[in-house]
Amino acid sequence: MDKPTLGQIYIISAASGTGKTTIVGQVLKRDPRVRLSISHTTRPVRTGEQHGEDYFFVSVDEFKQLIAKNEFLEYAQVYDNFYGTNANVVRDLQAQGYDVILEIDIQGATQIREILPDALSIFIAPPSMQELEQRLVGRGTDSEEVIAKRLGKARFEINQARFFDYIVINDDLERACCDVLSIMETQRLCCQKQLPFIDELLK
Ligand code: 5GP
Repeated sequence: MDKPTLGQIYIISAASGTGKTTIVGQVLKRDPRVRLSISHTTRPVRTGEQHGEDYFFVSVDEFKQLIAKNEFLEYAQVYDNFYGTNANVVRDLQAQGYDVILEIDIQGATQIREILPDALSIFIAPPSMQELEQRLVGRGTDSEEVIAKRLGKARFEINQARFFDYIVINDDLERACCDVLSIMETQRLCCQKQLPFIDELLK
């Protein structure tokens, strides 16, 4: 059997509270050709999260060992915790022909853009700063101190949107999900990706 075409890597970033995780969840549910790269993190597990599904939850020592073994494509300290993208996880999924989402922060996005210039990046923007604040408070998962920190950082993060390939505004979840799915579909239709089919036609 022919080897599957290498999947496309998508970086998806946002200021926290923008609904990025919800959008990514919907995209994964609706398009079986897309998979999520599950990151490693040293942050505590939140209620409802599963090891190996949401993250691989590891200790700081374990995380440092993974850095030493060069296991990460990128890693960053976000707030008080470490997060990293496992290189093998991404390569395996890509080799199986899946499009791979890296749901990572701005620092990670910058690193990936440098080492994987073919990766496409999507920035999810909130419709307004007021809406962002309401969502962070409403989420109920973080302390007031953490929320204040995240809001302070949001303006800086939103300003980084200019370095992304696409910007999706999450003022309506359904619309934002369709926007991300459309970006992915358009990419699959681009000439370079379709050439193997054309070659096959002409055989
Ligand atoms: P949370 O703790 O809310 O799940 O994630 C905090 C931030 O870390 C989010 O912006 C999330 O996208 C980011 N993040 C998750 N995994 C990774 C990763 O592997 N690398 C980087 N750089 N950021 C990540």
